[in-house]
Amino acid sequence: MAIIVLDKDTAEQIAAGEVIENPASVVKELVENSLDAGASSILISIEEGGKKFISVTDNGRGLPQSDLSLAFTRFATSKLTSFEDLDRLNSLGFRGEALPSIAAVSRVTMTSRVENNLAGTFISLAGSKITDNGETGAPFGTMVEVKDLFYNTPGRLKFLRSANYETSRISNLLTETALANPAVAFELKSSGRLLFRSPGDGNLLHAINALYGDDTAESMIPVDKVDKQTGCKVQGYTSAPHMTRSSRKWITTVINGRLIKNDTLVNALERAYGDYLPSKRHPLAVLLLSLPPETLDVNVHPAKTEIRFQQPEHSKNLVFKAVKLALQTSTGAASWPASFKETSTANNLSPRLQDKKQEELFSAPAFNFEKYTDSNRIPEKEQFFIETALRNSNYESASGGECRLIGQYLNSYLVAQKGEDLILIDQHAAHERIIYNRLLEEKAESRTEHGSQLIIPLTLKLPAVWQNKIERVLPLLKILGFEIDSLGEDSYAVRAVPFMLRDNADSENIFDMLEKISNLDPDSEDEQLTLTRDIVYKTIACHRSVKARQKLSHSEMEHLLREWENNSRALYCPHGRPTTILFKRDRLEKSFHRGGDSS
Ligand code: ADP
Ligand code: MG
Repeated sequence: MAIIVLDKDTAEQIAAGEVIENPASVVKELVENSLDAGASSILISIEEGGKKFISVTDNGRGLPQSDLSLAFTRFATSKLTSFEDLDRLNSLGFRGEALPSIAAVSRVTMTSRVENNLAGTFISLAGSKITDNGETGAPFGTMVEVKDLFYNTPGRLKFLRSANYETSRISNLLTETALANPAVAFELKSSGRLLFRSPGDGNLLHAINALYGDDTAESMIPVDKVDKQTGCKVQGYTSAPHMTRSSRKWITTVINGRLIKNDTLVNALERAYGDYLPSKRHPLAVLLLSLPPETLDVNVHPAKTEIRFQQPEHSKNLVFKAVKLALQTSTGAASWPASFKETSTANNLSPRLQDKKQEELFSAPAFNFEKYTDSNRIPEKEQFFIETALRNSNYESASGGECRLIGQYLNSYLVAQKGEDLILIDQHAAHERIIYNRLLEEKAESRTEHGSQLIIPLTLKLPAVWQNKIERVLPLLKILGFEIDSLGEDSYAVRAVPFMLRDNADSENIFDMLEKISNLDPDSEDEQLTLTRDIVYKTIACHRSVKARQKLSHSEMEHLLREWENNSRALYCPHGRPTTILFKRDRLEKSFHRGGDSS
């Protein structure tokens, strides 16, 4: 094929693809521009997950008329003048690509008014071409409206997900942006409905409160540390060890005002918890780092969410030390985080609170850390359950089984002999699978689950973005045994749970379950039911099964082994991890340099 130079429209659309992948990337770029313009209030409004409409309105310094069309020219930026400036960057934007990229793939109007002007001016573009411009009445600041994203690039349009999914993508992004900028008031509306609002009073804890709810804010521990040698600083909040989540989505790391996804920092944060963090659980945290700009390279990718450190160990060590210190000094204080709300500064404890902390350090121990780690976690009711649940299985006698129990290894694995081979069975994973299978079989018999009423309903606060979704699945959850209803605002009452979950229901595991459900993106009602049911079953199976590091009596082990034998599909747990390892006799004996039957 001959080489040709792409026409301007095509080139623009291709370049736009680098920066604008979905509605959330439009929102990200527009909000970053508002922040760069010094806004203290940013309102975002979307329709159909931003696919149909996005507007971002700020009270920043605005653009004079002469700059409006320039702003839509590729590589036009007011934020740096030479490549060297990149080293001293303190703005979020610098590439001058966002507005032209957005204009290439949508219909966009920008309206702005600078301080000394009586009127505002606007410019409209569609597919990179100016369609209109002129004067108009407008408040100070800038408003950008984006309609019909990807209307002229059907290939890209196809890749957008459901409105619900795109809405949560935007909401997640803005939640983190609001946490990264506690001095800016954010408001997100979807089809006129308020999803959240942050106060913008400069107090990070108030922002956490507004976005994650007061239960969460009350469980946060302040982090504040400076490394004098390197000039690096970290401030923010991290959750007390009893407050954990099932994913890392609730960890926000901000470097010099920029939201950054960086595993090294998150690993350092989690390592600081040591044993306090139960396995497969993650803390909630907002960490704001200030590092000397010349030690960073932010120009790694057009989306600017990655960063290169000159000295990665510095920030890693700082985060580790700061969080460890925060956790150590907070140990034993149960109620003081609640009093935080009274303090006006984000990160410093007032002297009064310091005293209070000391007092409580010497009174009752507050967190029972053991309770939150996997080891030693054998409440009596669990014990009772194992005995009964395993015994009630309709397995007649151990004698018929092919497997012979040898014992328990590390209080976590059953050791058994099957024929001439040796097998190790992960007791938790195997039991989880057995319960999960049983639930599936019951479903096949189409037995409807009758919920077990809780004597004291659990109350939950759910992020506003989940609410639409969750409210639509409430009838499905009811079929599965959950009775959950709205108490208004973001509060919900859990009045009944499936019988099997009765003894293990707490707000945290139901919250985790609802988080998973709210992340579903099913194509049909049928699929919604199937996927929701699967999440519910896995939740039940996980919480009803014997744990790792749990000592089992001989009869309990026997029962578990029989159930495992009777369960043809028990070789993998519901999450796909193997439950069983088999050591063939001949392979084993070869390892001892023995040849089969010889002695
Ligand atoms: P960049 O942010 O990388 O400079 P953009 O394409 O995002 O590139 O924006 C181009 C220019 O338009 C910016 O440099 C800025 O001068 C101006 N601009 C964009 N949005 C705003 C806004 N909300 N308020 C004031 N100026 C803005
Ligand atoms: Mg920009």
